[in-house]
Amino acid sequence: MNERRAPVVRVGFPASEGIARGRVRRIVWRIPELPHTVVQDSSSARELERFHSALDHARRELERIKAATEARLGHVEARIFDPQILMLDDPEVVDGTARYIRENRLAAARAFDWRMLELKELWSRTSHPMFLDRLNDLADLRFRVLGRLLDLPSPWRAGDTDGIVIVARELAPSLVAGLDPERVAALATDEGTRTSHWAILARSLGIPAVAGLGDIAATTSDGQAIIVDGRSGRVVVEPDRREAEHFRRRRAAIRGWERELRASAGEEAITLDQRGVVLRANLDLPGEALQARRHGADGVGLFRTEFLVVGRHTVPDEEEQYRAYRIVTEAFRGRAVFIRTFDLGGDKFPVFLHMPPEENPFLGRRGVRVCLEESELFLTQLRAILRAGAHGDVRIMIPMVNTVSELAAVRELLDTAGNQLGREGIPFAREIKVGAMIETPAAALKAPELAAHADFLSIGTNDLVQYTLAIDRTSTRLAHLFDEFDPAVLRMIAGVARAGRSRGIEVGACGEMAARPLGAVLLLGLGVEALSVAWASLPEIRKLVRSCRLDDLRAAASDVLEAPTSTDAKRALTESLGDVLDVGVFPLGT
Ligand code: PEP
Ligand code: MG
Repeated sequence: MNERRAPVVRVGFPASEGIARGRVRRIVWRIPELPHTVVQDSSSARELERFHSALDHARRELERIKAATEARLGHVEARIFDPQILMLDDPEVVDGTARYIRENRLAAARAFDWRMLELKELWSRTSHPMFLDRLNDLADLRFRVLGRLLDLPSPWRAGDTDGIVIVARELAPSLVAGLDPERVAALATDEGTRTSHWAILARSLGIPAVAGLGDIAATTSDGQAIIVDGRSGRVVVEPDRREAEHFRRRRAAIRGWERELRASAGEEAITLDQRGVVLRANLDLPGEALQARRHGADGVGLFRTEFLVVGRHTVPDEEEQYRAYRIVTEAFRGRAVFIRTFDLGGDKFPVFLHMPPEENPFLGRRGVRVCLEESELFLTQLRAILRAGAHGDVRIMIPMVNTVSELAAVRELLDTAGNQLGREGIPFAREIKVGAMIETPAAALKAPELAAHADFLSIGTNDLVQYTLAIDRTSTRLAHLFDEFDPAVLRMIAGVARAGRSRGIEVGACGEMAARPLGAVLLLGLGVEALSVAWASLPEIRKLVRSCRLDDLRAAASDVLEAPTSTDAKRALTESLGDVLDVGVFPLGT
């Protein structure tokens, strides 16, 4: 009997928005088992030459792909290839391989592969997501150089039929940069996250993608029907009639919703009782500024600057930083841009700082502590920010502040930076606002004292929840306990908002809570005046703001504050704001 099998459903990380249906096209990066070939002494020189010529070839290829990406997508996307190009000159890669060729008399391919596997092993020991993303660059480079040395066929066969969904264990940025969104419907991978370089490129190209699916590559075969939902992270292989119908309804709903949101991009974030809400964007890269503007951001509430340092072997100089800060400042002329100083340590560490491993990195050298210890690095950043401040309304936001004295130390260094620039005759912002992120219970409870020394406060709910509840924010095992609605967290947020109000300074929120409909309305009700969210969430949160009355949110929030548990808090909120949430929130869930 021809029995139809049930569809296979997997859920991964939503890596690029959009929903699509197509046929599986698997990509397999196959590197043959390399024998431990020892070459004649006299052949070593030739192997070295082959190795260097393969590196030159890889460099030419990468430069070509980078230039094509720049022409197609822009400067920031093109920079995605810089780490790989830099690796081609990195002594860890080049000298390490050359040593194996010379001293162990290995063939070039084996020596290079050995060195790459060693680096992979070294880099894999961290759980830091940005660093893990670099493994993806390493794999891309490994295949490129070995491909040349061993004359391997490309895993990608162009000229395939349209409507394909690429399925792979992992994708390479160089491959995704060349894809045609008219022909490739979607991407689905076992590994990777939303921050993988290939995922960033997929978003720029508008190709829906889901990453981190675990075993999708091994469990599918070419030609199978597949649905990829880059909004929910859900992937369905061989959908049955019910799934196909669900897909059609969802695709129509998403398209309609997106049309509606696009149409509202120019509208103000104003409540039904005519109260304005400041809605800004969080940026991880300067290149996102354009998208943020298109999505109607009122400025940038959090510009994370770690992209300048994490995973790099060299300290970024003042010019490079100034250029990056200026791009964003100029994209938002007349609106505030909150540049957050380096939030290093915890799960983000730059290679060049050689930070010794810590037992509890999140409780160790992190945020402003690192900046105050690494004063040269910090001074350079402050100079670059002050210079960018000459081009717009730049504000300086300090992460992980715990004490008033940390703020005072930052201000002292800022004076030094200003005095230096003044003496050197370099234009800079003479007046600049400096504020603290509220990310620890200590900071939240001392908000009145911090507010007296800060020009604004911004609640980083991701860390505030982590430190208040003692739940590692990176732990997938504890993710179900990571709860922004815990009464302890809510009471702290209410206290911070009160402290800011009584000092007349702005209190904003820039953690993930602000991007979730229920979280956003509660923050506003608790007295937070400015929300900062990823650009993709801006239209949704704006629509929500426009569907509610601030007075209702305040009344609801005061009930919520009485709730003894997080479940009661959520229930109280949905009961009193049900109508608003029905209007303002995406109709079919995430
Ligand atoms: C936060 O902690 O909420 C925050 C916005 O900062 P990050 O996520 O970069 O730590
Ligand atoms: Mg934080």
